[in-house]
Amino acid sequence: MRPDTPADHIAEAERLERTAGLYPEDTEHLLLQAAAHLELAGERDRATTLYDRLLAPDAPQRASAPTLIRALKASNLWEYGHEAEARAIIDGVRAAAPRDPAPWVIAAESLESHDELAQAQETFTEALELLLPQPGGEGAPASAPSYEQRPLLFGRHRVRRLLGAEHDAWDALADEISSSPVPLDELHDPKRIWSLGSDNPAELRAEISRIQAELGSYREALSRPFPVAVLHWPSAELTELLTAYPSLESEYPSHEAHLSTIEASLRELASSGTPNLGIVTGTVPSYEAFAASEGAQPTDVSLLPQYATTLAARGRAAGWPPEAGAGCWCGSGRTYGDCHGVS
Ligand SMILES: [Zn+2]
Ligand SMILES: [Zn+2]
Repeated sequence: MRPDTPADHIAEAERLERTAGLYPEDTEHLLLQAAAHLELAGERDRATTLYDRLLAPDAPQRASAPTLIRALKASNLWEYGHEAEARAIIDGVRAAAPRDPAPWVIAAESLESHDELAQAQETFTEALELLLPQPGGEGAPASAPSYEQRPLLFGRHRVRRLLGAEHDAWDALADEISSSPVPLDELHDPKRIWSLGSDNPAELRAEISRIQAELGSYREALSRPFPVAVLHWPSAELTELLTAYPSLESEYPSHEAHLSTIEASLRELASSGTPNLGIVTGTVPSYEAFAASEGAQPTDVSLLPQYATTLAARGRAAGWPPEAGAGCWCGSGRTYGDCHGVS
């Protein structure tokens, strides 16, 4: 399900909050997701309440990523007029020097979106000095950036282009690893924006929305800490499911077809550029419990993707595709390359 209207986002946030009530051990994941939906719905004060709930000293579970939560809270606060508080929290995030790139990216992008370009650049640079140091003098950084570190390089490149700074080794690395169809230097070229002027407002708007889309996709990836997951029923579970709920046979004509559909769906998602894919394994008792918690019947096929999302939010997803040479996700015992990974 991809909610689009504010009402959809609020409904999804409330569903995630209810799920958090059922699975206290997964509260942090679920409430962060709920807060992201509330932000998208424009319910920023409600999002702040959730961040505060996770950060409260007397919270039932200590937050596992408190610096990330503080960065998200600051970014949200600044969007609805609480600039001084947001700045103070961002200073605290920088001073905490987290090893996770995500709080750095959120803090720097928040500064950037409020035109604090010099501070945004400093924030990105502090993060890279800590996480991906440049070797002295010339050359690329010592180690290849991880998937999570890449937004630091791209964000810093973008801010430095806006500031008119010369490229350094980190910028060169950003250019090198970018997979954008438009070269990064072109995408981040401020002249493309400023020189257009008012004689072609449509083109100006197109450029701005292009840059915003790029920012938005990073933000979305960060606020979506669990994979986009497809639901897998092992053979015995599928038999039990269809015996109990025969009408679901329209969804699952055979186990073999079910497995092929899973692989095909994931390949399609991957080719459309969806990052962070996974597979979750269903069981009949947990599916029935989920349906009951939603006040719905297990025969309601619209529950199936929600069940998959909930399992993924609870950390139950296996990453897809499997590593080369690893066993296939279907459990056949063959390697992925010799089973569903065959091209
Ligand atoms: Zn460049
Ligand atoms: Zn397989």
